[in-house]
Amino acid sequence: MHKIWMVIGLLAAELVLAQTPPRLRTPVVENQGQVSAAQLEGQAQRFPQTFFLEGPGDRQVVALTFDDGPSLDTPALLDTLKKEGVKATFFWQGQNVLAHPEIVRRAVAEGHTVANHSFSHPNLSKMEEGGFWWDLQLAKTQSAFQQVVGFQPALMRPPYGFLNDGQIKALQARGVHAILWSVDSADWYHTWKISNESLASAQIHEVVAQYLHPEAIVLLHDSGGRTRRPTVAAVQTLIPAIRAKGYQFVTVDQLLKVPAKLTSAQQAANQPSLDATLQQFLVLFNEPDAAIRAAGWGKILSDDYLHVSAEGVLRGVPAYAGLVTQLRTQMMGLKLELTTPVQQLGEQALFGWRVMDAAGTTVAKGVNVLQLAADGRIKQNTVYNDRQLQ
Ligand SMILES: [Zn+2]
Repeated sequence: MHKIWMVIGLLAAELVLAQTPPRLRTPVVENQGQVSAAQLEGQAQRFPQTFFLEGPGDRQVVALTFDDGPSLDTPALLDTLKKEGVKATFFWQGQNVLAHPEIVRRAVAEGHTVANHSFSHPNLSKMEEGGFWWDLQLAKTQSAFQQVVGFQPALMRPPYGFLNDGQIKALQARGVHAILWSVDSADWYHTWKISNESLASAQIHEVVAQYLHPEAIVLLHDSGGRTRRPTVAAVQTLIPAIRAKGYQFVTVDQLLKVPAKLTSAQQAANQPSLDATLQQFLVLFNEPDAAIRAAGWGKILSDDYLHVSAEGVLRGVPAYAGLVTQLRTQMMGLKLELTTPVQQLGEQALFGWRVMDAAGTTVAKGVNVLQLAADGRIKQNTVYNDRQLQ
């Protein structure tokens, strides 16, 4: 027993002596596809002005952050934060910002920082090619915030933590900071694993309390899963416990001394490179699953924006061409036509297309390459638009 305490004592002494990381990190949840601590730390070191896991550690302050909302669990959280006089930072999905604009306006009115967490939570690192990650996920969410609260956030957090180095450079050029975390409560995991809500809440409290450090960025969630009540309850007990250790609560922009909002010049420079209607078309075209679901046509096997696999009615190339025709009717003011007939070559098929505006001018064109199974089912659909083909 003595020996163990001595080892722990030595480790603690080493931690105190070390002026730089490695910091004691919350463990990654195994087998859940989480980004590794090593990758996050590497990117934080390569992009010290743009990609942050935490503050420098000089001040006795922490930032609570909540991802994925807003949801119907968010108002209870806002009530708690208001009662305690704590300002937090919310990384929200654009689709939820549009679904709950009144919650977004309330959070902003109560002094919280709101930030971009993509439109629909894909792994952005898989969407870098063709600029889809920015146009269809981040710019679309910036527009949602602009529409609801009249400004665009200067902070973003990538879903699951995945960003390529090239994407971090692109964010830097746009004046957007990528905010990761140094304390992962894994609240989604504990709430999923522990069915008793108060036990789940106690576990979330325990993890945060154990790993807390000066200038920590704490990751929690206000949406997703069956409920976020255990997170809300954990926040109620954590705030006084963290205060009792001498900490104050700040927003991420205050913690890192970076802006929370883009300037109007930056906002203008961040306009999507395609006009809004064309963007909407590309969403439909790259993501026909939404149309398939709406039509009740089949079961989606996988979707990550550039590759869509569907089972059911979508069998063979003629059915795909039928889908394209179907999508045409959903496009506001745009017309799609095939520029080449569908050509099938063994297990591959391809066709060309172009999109015209109301005046008949071509605004985008491209080629789709389909990978077919032996039964003619589409295994994979890859869209190459004119920006990739140039
Ligand atoms: Zn998320």
